[in-house]
Amino acid sequence: NFLNKPAIMKDGTEIKIGINIGSQEFDVPTDRYDFIGLFRTEFLYMEGKELPGEETQFEAYRQVVQKAKGHPITLRTLDIGGDKTLPYMELPKEDNPFLGKRAIRLCFAEKELFLTQLRAALRASAYGPLQIMFPMVGSLEDIRKAKEYLNLAKEQLKERKQQFDEQIRIGIMIEIPAIALIADLAAEEVDFASIGSNDLTQYLSAADRMNPEVAAYYRSDSTAMLRLLRFVFQEFSKRGKEISVCGEMAGNPETAQLLVGLGARKLSMSSGNIAGVKAKLAECTLQELTALAEKKL
Ligand code: PEP
Ligand code: MG
Repeated sequence: NFLNKPAIMKDGTEIKIGINIGSQEFDVPTDRYDFIGLFRTEFLYMEGKELPGEETQFEAYRQVVQKAKGHPITLRTLDIGGDKTLPYMELPKEDNPFLGKRAIRLCFAEKELFLTQLRAALRASAYGPLQIMFPMVGSLEDIRKAKEYLNLAKEQLKERKQQFDEQIRIGIMIEIPAIALIADLAAEEVDFASIGSNDLTQYLSAADRMNPEVAAYYRSDSTAMLRLLRFVFQEFSKRGKEISVCGEMAGNPETAQLLVGLGARKLSMSSGNIAGVKAKLAECTLQELTALAEKKL
């Protein structure tokens, strides 16, 4: 049984296993994972009748920090738009919502909404190792702008004399090809990144992730995707910056093997996939997986 043991490959290489969670109600024993690689915060916004206030969010985030018992947590800021909408908020009708005002783009337009979430997340960082991740970043300008908002939120908390981790680590999702292709430059701007292979595959292959009609075109193991992934791993690793994967690719045993072969050492997945991935990784050596990836490339 691999479930509550570290993910060690045949040659001794350890792969760090993260979990993806969607609310503070998650219930995964802490010996099954090394980190929370993706804390999706949309639920807080989708379940209520109005925008959640700073206190509500702070309480939820702090609960996650406490439950994780010292494991690092990556909190992703709001990723609404695209397939997810808010009943109480008037969002623009778009012909192509996945290419529209989604996630960070919406947050930039809704300044108070964004600052409220950032303050709540910062305050939770006073209780444990919480880091903040921005979704749907497409350029260095996006990264810099997001950091400006974070700095503003920090100043607001300082004025109120409220505690937060001054050294809080900030990162981005890599899910738009335009940012993946400048991973060398992006890595200089952040402490870490996580590859959102679900969206990255969709945008790279121009195939809707929700549309079964084009499922055959939506391929996360295409040569193009694998080359892009290898580039991202290389550029982040070279600079000593943390890089992980939190899309579905990380939770599927076959693609998890490929990711490790391409350079991944941290994989984050839904908790149901942990045992399968750990078991599969234990079957092989790093050298074998590197060779497997090379062949695919
Ligand atoms: C992804 O795009 O791979 C991802 C993890 O984010 P989401 O599935 O929430 O869009
Ligand atoms: Mg995504």
